Amino acid sequence: MIRDLELAFVKIHILYHAEKEEVFGIGLMEELGSHGYEIGPGTLYPTLAKLEKGSFLNCKTRTVDHKQRKYYRITPKGRELLDKMREKIEELYQEVIKQK
Ligand SMILES: [Zn+2]
Repeated sequence: MIRDLELAFVKIHILYHAEKEEVFGIGLMEELGSHGYEIGPGTLYPTLAKLEKGSFLNCKTRTVDHKQRKYYRITPKGRELLDKMREKIEELYQEVIKQK
């Protein structure tokens, strides 16, 4: 159960960071790790692929240090979703945190 809930938060982190800048797998794993989410490639890459498939993220492959790396940015559809989630997070925060 905790995994399901965490995965939803992870997706919001991904959308948020992909809105601010280009993101890639290892960078995201580090960022998420700093928030206490232990997300390995086996979870992260399928999640990124799902977000890309749903047109929430755009993917570009570039070669860095002779390695192919996939970079992701948010799409207009992803931004719409993120804005909706921002409202939900605010509402949730007001209730779950403020009215504890
Ligand atoms: Zn984050």
